[in-house]
Amino acid sequence: NFAEPREQEVSGATVIARALLAQDVKYMFGIVGIPVTEIALAAQELGIRYIGMRNEQAACYAASAIGYLTGRPGVCLVVSGPGLIHALGGMANANINCWPLIVIGGSCERNQEAMGAFQEFPQVSNSNILTKFSAIPINIPTSFFNEIEEAVRNSIYGRPGACYVDIPADFVTRQVDVSSVKFKECCLPPPISMADTSAVNMAASVIRNAKQPLLIIGKGAAYAHAEESIQKLVEQCNLPFLPTPMGKGVVPDNHPNCVGAARSRALKYADVIVLFGARLNWMLHFGLPPRYHPHVKFIQVDICAEELGNNVRPAVTLLGNINAVTEQLLEQFDKTPWQYPTETKWWKALKEKMESNEAISKELASKKSLPMNYYTVFYHIQEQLPRDCFIVSEGANTMDIGRTVLQNYFPRHRLDAGTFGIMGVGLGFAIAAALVAKDRNPKQRVICVEGDSAFGFSGMEVETICRYNLPIILLVVNNNGIYQGINTDSWKEMLKFHDATTRVPPVCLLPNAHYEQVMTAFGGKGYFVQTPEDLQKSLRQTLANTTEPSLINIMIEPQSTRKAQEFHWLTRSNM
Ligand code: ADP
Ligand code: MG
Repeated sequence: NFAEPREQEVSGATVIARALLAQDVKYMFGIVGIPVTEIALAAQELGIRYIGMRNEQAACYAASAIGYLTGRPGVCLVVSGPGLIHALGGMANANINCWPLIVIGGSCERNQEAMGAFQEFPQVSNSNILTKFSAIPINIPTSFFNEIEEAVRNSIYGRPGACYVDIPADFVTRQVDVSSVKFKECCLPPPISMADTSAVNMAASVIRNAKQPLLIIGKGAAYAHAEESIQKLVEQCNLPFLPTPMGKGVVPDNHPNCVGAARSRALKYADVIVLFGARLNWMLHFGLPPRYHPHVKFIQVDICAEELGNNVRPAVTLLGNINAVTEQLLEQFDKTPWQYPTETKWWKALKEKMESNEAISKELASKKSLPMNYYTVFYHIQEQLPRDCFIVSEGANTMDIGRTVLQNYFPRHRLDAGTFGIMGVGLGFAIAAALVAKDRNPKQRVICVEGDSAFGFSGMEVETICRYNLPIILLVVNNNGIYQGINTDSWKEMLKFHDATTRVPPVCLLPNAHYEQVMTAFGGKGYFVQTPEDLQKSLRQTLANTTEPSLINIMIEPQSTRKAQEFHWLTRSNM
Protein backbone atom coordinates (compact mmCIF):
# COMPACT_ATOMS: atom_id res chain seq x y z
CA ASN A 1 0.00 0.00 0.00
CA PHE A 2 2.99 2.32 -0.25
CA ALA A 3 4.48 1.76 -3.70
CA GLU A 4 3.01 2.18 -7.15
CA PRO A 5 2.62 -1.01 -9.21
CA ARG A 6 5.96 -2.26 -10.60
CA GLU A 7 7.86 0.47 -8.77
CA GLN A 8 11.21 -0.65 -7.34
CA GLU A 9 13.04 2.45 -6.24
CA VAL A 10 11.96 5.95 -5.26
CA SER A 11 13.80 9.00 -3.94
CA GLY A 12 13.83 9.96 -0.28
CA ALA A 13 11.92 13.12 -1.29
CA THR A 14 9.11 10.98 -2.71
CA VAL A 15 8.93 8.94 0.49
CA ILE A 16 8.59 12.12 2.57
CA ALA A 17 5.88 13.50 0.30
CA ARG A 18 3.93 10.22 0.41
CA ALA A 19 4.29 10.09 4.20
CA LEU A 20 2.82 13.61 4.43
CA LEU A 21 -0.04 12.73 2.12
CA ALA A 22 -0.75 9.60 4.18
CA GLN A 23 -1.23 11.93 7.18
CA ASP A 24 -3.73 14.02 5.22
CA VAL A 25 -1.47 17.05 4.89
CA LYS A 26 -3.02 19.39 2.32
CA TYR A 27 -0.88 22.54 2.35
CA MET A 28 2.85 23.14 2.30
CA PHE A 29 4.40 26.61 2.56
CA GLY A 30 8.06 27.36 2.20
CA ILE A 31 11.03 28.58 0.24
CA VAL A 32 12.93 26.00 -1.75
CA GLY A 33 16.67 25.62 -2.11
CA ILE A 34 19.30 23.03 -1.26
CA PRO A 35 18.37 20.44 -0.08
CA VAL A 36 14.56 20.60 -0.07
CA THR A 37 13.52 21.58 -3.62
CA GLU A 38 12.87 17.93 -4.50
CA ILE A 39 10.54 17.56 -1.50
CA ALA A 40 8.38 20.46 -2.69
CA LEU A 41 8.27 19.03 -6.20
CA ALA A 42 7.35 15.56 -4.97
CA ALA A 43 4.63 16.97 -2.70
CA GLN A 44 3.13 19.05 -5.49
CA GLU A 45 3.10 16.03 -7.78
CA LEU A 46 0.95 14.20 -5.21
CA GLY A 47 -1.57 17.01 -5.05
CA ILE A 48 -0.34 18.68 -1.86
CA ARG A 49 -0.67 22.41 -2.50
CA TYR A 50 2.68 24.14 -2.42
CA ILE A 51 2.79 27.87 -1.72
CA GLY A 52 6.18 29.49 -2.25
CA MET A 53 6.62 32.43 0.11
CA ARG A 54 9.22 35.24 0.34
CA ASN A 55 10.45 34.65 3.88
CA GLU A 56 10.37 31.46 5.94
CA GLN A 57 8.92 33.34 8.87
CA ALA A 58 5.77 34.25 6.91
CA ALA A 59 5.66 30.71 5.48
CA CYS A 60 5.66 29.32 9.01
CA TYR A 61 2.93 31.73 10.15
CA ALA A 62 0.80 30.66 7.19
CA ALA A 63 1.30 26.95 7.92
CA SER A 64 0.39 27.46 11.58
CA ALA A 65 -2.82 29.30 10.67
CA ILE A 66 -3.83 26.31 8.53
CA GLY A 67 -3.51 24.20 11.67
CA TYR A 68 -5.78 26.50 13.67
CA LEU A 69 -8.35 26.89 10.93
CA THR A 70 -8.59 23.25 9.84
CA GLY A 71 -7.45 21.19 12.83
CA ARG A 72 -4.84 19.43 10.64
CA PRO A 73 -1.31 20.79 10.56
CA GLY A 74 0.04 22.72 7.61
CA VAL A 75 3.65 22.08 6.69
CA CYS A 76 6.40 24.66 6.55
CA LEU A 77 9.33 23.48 4.40
CA VAL A 78 12.66 25.22 4.89
CA VAL A 79 16.27 24.87 3.86
CA SER A 80 19.10 24.23 6.30
CA GLY A 81 20.62 26.74 8.76
CA PRO A 82 19.29 30.23 8.00
CA GLY A 83 16.09 28.83 6.48
CA LEU A 84 15.27 27.03 9.69
CA ILE A 85 16.37 30.01 11.80
CA HIS A 86 13.92 32.27 9.97
CA ALA A 87 11.16 29.76 10.69
CA LEU A 88 11.85 29.61 14.44
CA GLY A 89 9.61 32.65 15.06
CA GLY A 90 6.69 30.84 13.45
CA MET A 91 7.37 27.68 15.43
CA ALA A 92 7.46 29.61 18.70
CA ASN A 93 4.26 31.43 17.80
CA ALA A 94 2.41 28.24 16.89
CA ASN A 95 3.52 26.51 20.05
CA ILE A 96 2.61 29.43 22.30
CA ASN A 97 -0.80 29.77 20.60
CA CYS A 98 -1.34 25.97 20.95
CA TRP A 99 -1.74 25.51 17.19
CA PRO A 100 -0.67 22.39 15.28
CA LEU A 101 2.24 22.85 12.86
CA ILE A 102 4.82 20.65 11.14
CA VAL A 103 8.15 22.16 10.14
CA ILE A 104 10.36 20.11 7.85
CA GLY A 105 13.92 21.34 7.63
CA GLY A 106 16.58 20.14 5.28
CA SER A 107 19.95 19.86 6.98
CA CYS A 108 23.54 19.23 5.95
CA GLU A 109 24.73 15.81 4.82
CA ARG A 110 25.52 13.54 7.72
CA ASN A 111 29.05 12.73 6.59
CA GLN A 112 29.90 16.47 6.67
CA GLU A 113 28.54 17.08 10.16
CA ALA A 114 30.81 19.05 12.53
CA MET A 115 33.10 19.86 9.59
CA GLY A 116 31.68 23.31 8.91
CA ALA A 117 29.28 22.08 6.26
CA PHE A 118 27.22 24.49 4.12
CA GLN A 119 24.54 26.06 6.34
CA GLU A 120 25.33 23.64 9.15
CA PHE A 121 23.37 24.38 12.32
CA PRO A 122 22.19 22.32 15.31
CA GLN A 123 18.62 22.26 13.99
CA VAL A 124 17.02 19.63 16.18
CA SER A 125 18.34 21.01 19.46
CA ASN A 126 17.34 24.56 18.49
CA SER A 127 13.84 23.43 17.56
CA ASN A 128 13.50 21.45 20.74
CA ILE A 129 12.57 24.29 23.05
CA LEU A 130 10.02 25.71 20.60
CA THR A 131 8.16 22.48 19.88
CA LYS A 132 6.37 19.53 21.47
CA PHE A 133 8.37 17.07 19.42
CA SER A 134 11.47 17.35 17.27
CA ALA A 135 13.37 14.54 15.69
CA ILE A 136 15.84 13.44 13.10
CA PRO A 137 14.75 10.14 11.61
CA ILE A 138 17.35 7.46 12.26
CA ASN A 139 16.70 4.84 9.64
CA ILE A 140 15.80 7.25 6.94
CA PRO A 141 14.33 7.07 4.41
CA THR A 142 12.79 3.76 5.46
CA SER A 143 11.37 5.24 8.68
CA PHE A 144 9.96 8.49 7.25
CA PHE A 145 6.38 7.30 7.58
CA ASN A 146 6.88 6.67 11.28
CA GLU A 147 8.46 10.02 11.99
CA ILE A 148 5.92 12.02 10.04
CA GLU A 149 3.02 10.16 11.66
CA GLU A 150 4.52 10.75 15.10
CA ALA A 151 5.01 14.45 14.37
CA VAL A 152 1.47 14.91 13.05
CA ARG A 153 -0.03 12.95 15.95
CA ASN A 154 1.95 14.99 18.48
CA SER A 155 0.89 18.24 16.84
CA ILE A 156 -2.85 17.55 17.27
CA TYR A 157 -3.15 15.27 20.34
CA GLY A 158 -3.50 16.79 23.81
CA ARG A 159 -2.66 20.49 23.72
CA PRO A 160 -1.85 21.18 20.07
CA GLY A 161 1.55 22.57 19.13
CA ALA A 162 4.51 22.70 16.79
CA CYS A 163 6.63 19.70 15.72
CA TYR A 164 9.89 19.57 13.81
CA VAL A 165 11.32 16.86 11.53
CA ASP A 166 14.90 17.18 10.31
CA ILE A 167 15.85 15.70 6.94
CA PRO A 168 19.58 15.44 6.15
CA ALA A 169 20.43 16.36 2.55
CA ASP A 170 21.79 12.95 1.64
CA PHE A 171 18.42 11.35 2.40
CA VAL A 172 16.50 13.59 0.05
CA THR A 173 18.07 12.46 -3.17
CA ARG A 174 19.03 8.94 -2.19
CA GLN A 175 17.13 6.21 -4.03
CA VAL A 176 15.53 3.64 -1.77
CA ASP A 177 14.20 0.20 -2.38
CA VAL A 178 10.41 0.48 -1.96
CA SER A 179 10.28 -2.85 -0.15
CA SER A 180 12.43 -1.40 2.66
CA VAL A 181 10.03 1.49 3.36
CA LYS A 182 7.73 0.86 6.32
CA PHE A 183 4.26 2.27 5.58
CA LYS A 184 2.25 3.90 8.33
CA GLU A 185 -1.35 4.93 7.87
CA CYS A 186 -3.00 8.17 8.99
CA CYS A 187 -3.16 8.60 12.75
CA LEU A 188 -6.62 8.48 14.30
CA PRO A 189 -8.36 11.77 15.11
CA PRO A 190 -7.48 13.06 18.59
CA PRO A 191 -9.29 11.08 21.30
CA ILE A 192 -12.02 13.02 23.09
CA SER A 193 -11.56 13.32 26.83
CA MET A 194 -14.30 14.20 29.31
CA ALA A 195 -14.16 15.74 32.77
CA ASP A 196 -14.65 13.83 35.98
CA THR A 197 -18.40 13.63 36.77
CA SER A 198 -18.10 14.91 40.33
CA ALA A 199 -16.16 17.95 39.06
CA VAL A 200 -18.93 18.61 36.51
CA ASN A 201 -21.55 18.43 39.30
CA MET A 202 -19.55 20.80 41.40
CA ALA A 203 -19.06 23.24 38.54
CA ALA A 204 -22.80 23.27 37.80
CA SER A 205 -23.56 23.98 41.44
CA VAL A 206 -21.01 26.85 41.61
CA ILE A 207 -22.60 28.35 38.47
CA ARG A 208 -26.12 28.01 39.90
CA ASN A 209 -25.07 29.85 43.04
CA ALA A 210 -23.31 32.67 41.22
CA LYS A 211 -24.56 36.20 41.82
CA GLN A 212 -22.47 37.80 39.07
CA PRO A 213 -21.47 35.04 36.64
CA LEU A 214 -19.33 35.42 33.52
CA LEU A 215 -18.18 33.03 30.79
CA ILE A 216 -14.89 33.76 29.03
CA ILE A 217 -14.58 32.14 25.62
CA GLY A 218 -11.04 31.67 24.34
CA LYS A 219 -9.42 30.48 21.15
CA GLY A 220 -9.20 26.99 22.69
CA ALA A 221 -13.02 26.86 22.41
CA ALA A 222 -12.78 27.98 18.79
CA TYR A 223 -10.15 25.34 18.05
CA ALA A 224 -12.28 22.68 19.77
CA HIS A 225 -15.31 23.54 17.55
CA ALA A 226 -17.34 24.07 20.70
CA GLU A 227 -19.51 26.81 19.17
CA GLU A 228 -22.80 24.94 19.24
CA SER A 229 -22.56 23.64 22.78
CA ILE A 230 -21.27 26.93 24.22
CA GLN A 231 -23.96 28.99 22.52
CA LYS A 232 -26.55 26.55 23.88
CA LEU A 233 -25.15 26.93 27.39
CA VAL A 234 -25.14 30.74 27.09
CA GLU A 235 -28.77 30.76 25.98
CA GLN A 236 -30.15 27.98 28.14
CA CYS A 237 -28.68 29.51 31.30
CA ASN A 238 -28.85 33.15 30.15
CA LEU A 239 -25.20 33.78 31.06
CA PRO A 240 -23.18 36.86 30.10
CA PHE A 241 -20.06 36.04 28.13
CA LEU A 242 -17.06 37.78 26.70
CA PRO A 243 -14.69 36.48 24.07
CA THR A 244 -10.92 36.81 24.05
CA PRO A 245 -9.58 38.32 20.80
CA MET A 246 -9.55 35.04 18.86
CA GLY A 247 -12.47 33.64 20.84
CA LYS A 248 -14.59 36.22 18.99
CA GLY A 249 -17.26 34.60 16.83
CA VAL A 250 -17.58 31.31 18.76
CA VAL A 251 -20.81 32.95 19.86
CA PRO A 252 -21.55 35.93 17.57
CA ASP A 253 -20.34 39.32 18.80
CA ASN A 254 -23.84 40.75 18.34
CA HIS A 255 -25.43 38.13 20.62
CA PRO A 256 -27.51 39.86 23.33
CA ASN A 257 -25.48 38.08 26.04
CA CYS A 258 -22.12 39.34 24.77
CA VAL A 259 -20.69 41.84 27.22
CA GLY A 260 -17.42 42.46 25.35
CA ALA A 261 -18.04 46.21 25.41
CA ALA A 262 -18.08 46.16 29.22
CA ARG A 263 -14.98 44.01 29.49
CA SER A 264 -13.18 45.72 32.38
CA ARG A 265 -16.31 45.91 34.51
CA ALA A 266 -17.29 42.30 33.78
CA LEU A 267 -13.86 41.03 34.79
CA LYS A 268 -13.62 43.19 37.89
CA TYR A 269 -16.93 42.36 39.51
CA ALA A 270 -17.75 38.82 38.40
CA ASP A 271 -17.96 36.40 41.33
CA VAL A 272 -17.84 33.22 39.20
CA ILE A 273 -15.89 33.01 35.95
CA VAL A 274 -15.91 29.96 33.68
CA LEU A 275 -12.92 29.85 31.34
CA PHE A 276 -13.47 27.91 28.13
CA GLY A 277 -10.03 27.46 26.56
CA ALA A 278 -8.48 30.71 27.70
CA ARG A 279 -5.38 30.90 29.84
CA LEU A 280 -5.01 33.29 32.77
CA ASN A 281 -1.91 34.86 31.22
CA TRP A 282 -1.17 38.53 30.45
CA MET A 283 -4.17 38.74 28.09
CA LEU A 284 -6.51 38.04 30.99
CA HIS A 285 -4.37 39.97 33.48
CA PHE A 286 -3.32 36.73 35.24
CA GLY A 287 -6.73 36.41 36.91
CA LEU A 288 -5.54 38.66 39.74
CA PRO A 289 -6.70 41.86 41.52
CA PRO A 290 -7.07 44.75 40.80
CA ARG A 291 -8.53 43.55 37.51
CA TYR A 292 -10.58 40.82 39.24
CA HIS A 293 -12.47 40.49 42.47
CA PRO A 294 -10.13 39.01 45.11
CA HIS A 295 -12.63 36.23 45.89
CA VAL A 296 -13.74 35.38 42.36
CA LYS A 297 -14.27 31.64 41.81
CA PHE A 298 -12.67 30.37 38.63
CA ILE A 299 -13.88 27.26 36.83
CA GLN A 300 -11.25 26.26 34.28
CA VAL A 301 -12.04 24.11 31.27
CA ASP A 302 -8.91 22.99 29.43
CA ILE A 303 -7.40 19.99 27.71
CA CYS A 304 -4.04 20.55 29.33
CA ALA A 305 -3.80 19.42 32.96
CA GLU A 306 -0.63 21.43 33.56
CA GLU A 307 -2.50 24.63 32.73
CA LEU A 308 -5.04 24.18 35.53
CA GLY A 309 -4.18 26.31 38.56
CA ASN A 310 -1.77 28.65 36.79
CA ASN A 311 -1.69 31.99 38.68
CA VAL A 312 -4.91 31.34 40.63
CA ARG A 313 -6.34 28.57 42.74
CA PRO A 314 -9.40 27.48 40.77
CA ALA A 315 -12.68 26.57 42.49
CA VAL A 316 -13.25 23.72 40.01
CA THR A 317 -11.10 22.28 37.22
CA LEU A 318 -12.68 20.50 34.27
CA LEU A 319 -9.99 18.61 32.41
CA GLY A 320 -11.09 17.59 28.96
CA ASN A 321 -12.16 18.52 25.47
CA ILE A 322 -14.09 21.80 25.67
CA ASN A 323 -16.95 20.63 23.50
CA ALA A 324 -17.39 17.37 25.42
CA VAL A 325 -17.15 19.13 28.78
CA THR A 326 -19.69 21.77 27.74
CA GLU A 327 -22.05 18.95 26.74
CA GLN A 328 -21.52 17.47 30.21
CA LEU A 329 -22.46 20.79 31.79
CA LEU A 330 -25.51 21.04 29.55
CA GLU A 331 -26.63 17.60 30.76
CA GLN A 332 -26.61 18.92 34.32
CA PHE A 333 -28.74 21.89 33.32
CA ASP A 334 -31.08 19.63 31.35
CA LYS A 335 -31.57 17.44 34.39
CA THR A 336 -32.29 20.35 36.72
CA PRO A 337 -33.07 23.38 34.58
CA TRP A 338 -31.77 26.70 35.81
CA GLN A 339 -31.50 30.14 34.35
CA TYR A 340 -29.70 33.24 35.50
CA PRO A 341 -32.39 35.92 35.87
CA THR A 342 -32.42 38.85 33.44
CA GLU A 343 -33.60 41.40 35.97
CA THR A 344 -30.48 41.52 38.09
CA LYS A 345 -28.20 44.34 39.19
CA TRP A 346 -25.39 42.53 37.38
CA TRP A 347 -27.07 42.56 33.99
CA LYS A 348 -28.07 46.17 34.53
CA ALA A 349 -24.53 47.23 35.47
CA LEU A 350 -23.06 45.45 32.44
CA LYS A 351 -25.62 46.86 30.01
CA GLU A 352 -25.14 50.41 31.29
CA LYS A 353 -21.40 50.18 30.88
CA MET A 354 -21.76 48.74 27.38
CA GLU A 355 -24.06 51.53 26.32
CA SER A 356 -21.79 54.27 27.63
CA ASN A 357 -18.67 52.69 26.08
CA GLU A 358 -20.38 52.28 22.73
CA ALA A 359 -21.62 55.86 22.83
CA ILE A 360 -18.08 57.18 23.36
CA SER A 361 -16.75 55.14 20.41
CA LYS A 362 -19.61 56.29 18.20
CA GLU A 363 -18.97 59.88 19.06
CA LEU A 364 -15.30 59.56 18.18
CA ALA A 365 -16.28 57.83 14.96
CA SER A 366 -18.60 60.65 13.94
CA LYS A 367 -15.83 63.28 14.13
CA LYS A 368 -15.54 64.99 10.77
CA SER A 369 -12.02 66.33 11.18
CA LEU A 370 -9.27 65.23 8.78
CA PRO A 371 -7.04 63.24 8.80
CA MET A 372 -9.46 60.60 10.11
CA ASN A 373 -9.11 58.95 13.53
CA TYR A 374 -9.11 55.18 14.15
CA TYR A 375 -12.77 55.03 15.14
CA THR A 376 -14.00 56.77 12.01
CA VAL A 377 -11.99 54.34 9.90
CA PHE A 378 -13.20 51.22 11.68
CA TYR A 379 -16.86 52.26 11.72
CA HIS A 380 -16.77 52.71 7.96
CA ILE A 381 -15.06 49.35 7.51
CA GLN A 382 -17.54 47.60 9.81
CA GLU A 383 -20.44 49.03 7.81
CA GLN A 384 -19.36 47.24 4.67
CA LEU A 385 -17.72 44.04 5.94
CA PRO A 386 -19.45 40.87 4.78
CA ARG A 387 -20.62 38.96 7.85
CA ASP A 388 -18.78 35.77 6.98
CA CYS A 389 -15.41 37.31 6.16
CA PHE A 390 -12.15 36.29 7.80
CA ILE A 391 -10.68 39.19 9.73
CA VAL A 392 -6.91 39.14 10.12
CA SER A 393 -5.45 41.96 12.17
CA GLU A 394 -2.22 43.18 13.67
CA GLY A 395 -0.58 46.38 14.81
CA ALA A 396 -0.81 48.07 18.19
CA ASN A 397 -3.68 50.56 18.09
CA THR A 398 -4.98 49.20 14.80
CA MET A 399 -5.52 45.77 16.29
CA ASP A 400 -6.71 46.89 19.73
CA ILE A 401 -9.22 49.47 18.53
CA GLY A 402 -10.20 47.47 15.46
CA ARG A 403 -11.14 44.51 17.62
CA THR A 404 -13.67 46.55 19.57
CA VAL A 405 -15.42 47.81 16.42
CA LEU A 406 -15.06 44.99 13.87
CA GLN A 407 -17.55 42.21 14.56
CA ASN A 408 -17.13 38.46 14.16
CA TYR A 409 -20.18 36.31 13.58
CA PHE A 410 -18.49 32.95 12.93
CA PRO A 411 -15.94 30.90 14.88
CA ARG A 412 -12.29 30.70 13.73
CA HIS A 413 -12.75 33.79 11.56
CA ARG A 414 -10.36 36.05 13.41
CA LEU A 415 -6.57 35.74 13.34
CA ASP A 416 -4.32 38.21 15.11
CA ALA A 417 -1.11 38.78 17.08
CA GLY A 418 -2.33 36.22 19.63
CA THR A 419 -0.75 35.06 22.86
CA PHE A 420 2.76 35.97 21.73
CA GLY A 421 1.77 39.52 20.71
CA ILE A 422 3.63 38.85 17.50
CA MET A 423 3.86 41.29 14.57
CA GLY A 424 4.42 40.31 10.96
CA VAL A 425 1.88 37.47 10.95
CA GLY A 426 -0.89 39.24 9.04
CA LEU A 427 -0.03 38.45 5.45
CA GLY A 428 0.90 34.83 6.14
CA PHE A 429 -2.34 34.33 8.09
CA ALA A 430 -4.34 36.03 5.33
CA ILE A 431 -2.80 33.75 2.69
CA ALA A 432 -3.71 30.67 4.75
CA ALA A 433 -7.27 31.94 5.30
CA ALA A 434 -7.67 32.71 1.59
CA LEU A 435 -6.64 29.15 0.68
CA VAL A 436 -9.08 27.69 3.19
CA ALA A 437 -11.82 29.97 1.83
CA LYS A 438 -11.01 28.99 -1.73
CA ASP A 439 -11.60 25.32 -0.87
CA ARG A 440 -14.70 25.77 1.27
CA ASN A 441 -16.54 28.78 -0.03
CA PRO A 442 -14.89 30.83 -2.78
CA LYS A 443 -17.25 33.75 -2.13
CA GLN A 444 -15.83 34.26 1.32
CA ARG A 445 -13.53 37.26 1.69
CA VAL A 446 -10.34 37.74 3.67
CA ILE A 447 -9.84 41.22 5.10
CA CYS A 448 -6.44 41.93 6.56
CA VAL A 449 -6.37 45.04 8.75
CA GLU A 450 -2.77 46.08 9.27
CA GLY A 451 -1.00 48.92 10.99
CA ASP A 452 1.63 50.48 8.73
CA SER A 453 4.40 49.17 10.95
CA ALA A 454 2.91 45.66 11.14
CA PHE A 455 2.54 45.58 7.35
CA GLY A 456 6.26 46.25 6.93
CA PHE A 457 7.36 43.04 8.64
CA SER A 458 6.15 40.80 5.82
CA GLY A 459 5.21 43.34 3.14
CA MET A 460 6.88 41.43 0.31
CA GLU A 461 4.28 38.66 0.72
CA VAL A 462 2.10 40.95 -1.40
CA GLU A 463 3.98 39.41 -4.32
CA THR A 464 2.97 35.95 -3.06
CA ILE A 465 -0.66 37.10 -2.83
CA CYS A 466 -0.54 38.39 -6.42
CA ARG A 467 1.34 35.34 -7.76
CA TYR A 468 -1.39 32.99 -6.54
CA ASN A 469 -4.06 35.60 -7.28
CA LEU A 470 -5.65 35.41 -3.83
CA PRO A 471 -8.45 38.01 -3.56
CA ILE A 472 -7.25 39.31 -0.19
CA ILE A 473 -8.14 42.85 0.81
CA LEU A 474 -5.31 44.50 2.69
CA LEU A 475 -6.23 47.59 4.67
CA VAL A 476 -3.19 49.50 5.88
CA VAL A 477 -4.19 51.92 8.62
CA ASN A 478 -1.37 54.38 8.17
CA ASN A 479 -0.35 56.74 10.96
CA ASN A 480 3.25 57.12 9.76
CA GLY A 481 4.67 55.15 12.65
CA ILE A 482 4.72 52.66 15.50
CA TYR A 483 2.03 53.70 18.04
CA GLN A 484 2.20 57.25 16.64
CA GLY A 485 3.99 59.13 13.86
CA ILE A 486 4.37 62.69 12.65
CA ASN A 487 3.03 64.53 9.63
CA THR A 488 4.94 65.55 6.51
CA ASP A 489 5.38 69.19 7.47
CA SER A 490 6.90 68.46 10.87
CA TRP A 491 9.02 65.80 9.22
CA LYS A 492 10.49 68.30 6.74
CA GLU A 493 11.01 70.86 9.46
CA MET A 494 12.78 68.31 11.62
CA LEU A 495 15.24 67.31 8.92
CA LYS A 496 16.10 70.81 7.74
CA PHE A 497 19.10 71.16 10.00
CA HIS A 498 19.65 67.66 11.30
CA ASP A 499 20.74 64.21 10.31
CA ALA A 500 17.76 61.80 10.31
CA THR A 501 19.42 59.24 12.59
CA THR A 502 19.93 61.80 15.34
CA ARG A 503 16.46 63.32 15.09
CA VAL A 504 13.82 60.97 13.76
CA PRO A 505 11.93 59.59 16.77
CA PRO A 506 12.35 55.80 16.89
CA VAL A 507 8.57 55.37 16.58
CA CYS A 508 8.42 57.23 13.26
CA LEU A 509 8.14 55.76 9.80
CA LEU A 510 8.31 57.74 6.56
CA PRO A 511 5.26 60.03 6.47
CA ASN A 512 2.83 59.70 3.61
CA ALA A 513 4.22 56.36 2.43
CA HIS A 514 2.30 55.02 -0.55
CA TYR A 515 1.97 51.38 0.49
CA GLU A 516 -0.75 50.84 -2.11
CA GLN A 517 1.96 50.98 -4.75
CA VAL A 518 3.45 47.77 -3.34
CA MET A 519 0.22 46.15 -4.50
CA THR A 520 0.07 47.83 -7.91
CA ALA A 521 3.72 46.86 -8.49
CA PHE A 522 2.56 43.24 -8.75
CA GLY A 523 -0.64 43.86 -10.70
CA GLY A 524 -3.15 44.14 -7.85
CA LYS A 525 -5.38 47.13 -7.16
CA GLY A 526 -4.17 49.95 -4.95
CA TYR A 527 -6.10 52.81 -3.32
CA PHE A 528 -4.79 55.82 -1.42
CA VAL A 529 -7.53 57.26 0.78
CA GLN A 530 -7.69 60.32 2.98
CA THR A 531 -11.39 60.92 3.55
CA PRO A 532 -14.38 58.86 4.72
CA GLU A 533 -15.92 59.20 1.25
CA ASP A 534 -12.79 57.79 -0.44
CA LEU A 535 -12.70 55.00 2.07
CA GLN A 536 -16.34 54.04 1.49
CA LYS A 537 -15.90 54.15 -2.26
CA SER A 538 -12.71 52.10 -2.39
CA LEU A 539 -14.19 49.50 -0.02
CA ARG A 540 -17.28 49.18 -2.18
CA GLN A 541 -15.19 48.71 -5.29
CA THR A 542 -12.81 46.19 -3.79
CA LEU A 543 -15.60 44.15 -2.19
CA ALA A 544 -17.43 44.01 -5.51
CA ASN A 545 -14.33 42.66 -7.22
CA THR A 546 -14.01 39.08 -5.99
CA THR A 547 -11.07 38.02 -8.10
CA GLU A 548 -8.33 40.56 -7.54
CA PRO A 549 -6.04 41.27 -4.59
CA SER A 550 -6.13 44.85 -3.36
CA LEU A 551 -4.59 47.21 -0.85
CA ILE A 552 -6.25 50.30 0.57
CA ASN A 553 -3.78 52.65 2.19
CA ILE A 554 -5.81 54.63 4.73
CA MET A 555 -4.17 57.80 5.98
CA ILE A 556 -5.12 58.69 9.55
CA GLU A 557 -4.15 61.39 12.00
CA PRO A 558 -0.57 60.46 13.02
CA GLN A 559 -1.31 61.32 16.67
CA SER A 560 -4.65 59.47 16.81
CA THR A 561 -5.01 57.16 19.83
CA ARG A 562 -7.62 55.12 21.58
CA LYS A 563 -10.20 56.56 23.89
CA ALA A 564 -9.26 56.96 27.53
CA GLN A 565 -9.20 53.61 29.35
CA GLU A 566 -9.68 52.80 32.98
CA PHE A 567 -7.12 50.04 32.43
CA HIS A 568 -5.25 49.23 29.27
CA TRP A 569 -6.66 46.01 27.91
CA LEU A 570 -3.34 44.78 26.70
CA THR A 571 -0.80 46.15 29.11
CA ARG A 572 2.45 46.73 27.33
CA SER A 573 5.56 47.50 29.30
CA ASN A 574 6.38 50.36 26.96
CA MET A 575 3.02 52.11 27.10
P1 ADP B 1 -6.95 32.93 24.42
O1 ADP B 1 -5.74 33.57 23.79
O2 ADP B 1 -8.15 32.99 23.57
O3 ADP B 1 -7.16 33.40 25.82
P2 ADP B 1 -5.34 30.65 25.07
O4 ADP B 1 -4.45 30.36 23.92
O5 ADP B 1 -4.75 31.41 26.22
O6 ADP B 1 -6.65 31.36 24.51
O7 ADP B 1 -5.93 29.33 25.64
C1 ADP B 1 -6.36 28.29 24.84
C2 ADP B 1 -6.44 27.07 25.74
O8 ADP B 1 -7.26 26.12 25.10
C3 ADP B 1 -5.09 26.40 25.99
O9 ADP B 1 -4.82 26.37 27.37
C4 ADP B 1 -5.26 25.01 25.39
O10 ADP B 1 -4.65 24.02 26.19
C5 ADP B 1 -6.77 24.84 25.37
N1 ADP B 1 -7.28 23.94 24.34
C6 ADP B 1 -6.91 23.84 23.05
N2 ADP B 1 -7.65 22.92 22.40
C7 ADP B 1 -8.52 22.43 23.31
C8 ADP B 1 -9.56 21.45 23.29
N3 ADP B 1 -9.86 20.78 22.17
N4 ADP B 1 -10.25 21.20 24.40
C9 ADP B 1 -9.94 21.86 25.55
N5 ADP B 1 -8.99 22.80 25.65
C10 ADP B 1 -8.28 23.08 24.55
MG1 MG C 1 1.25 52.75 12.63
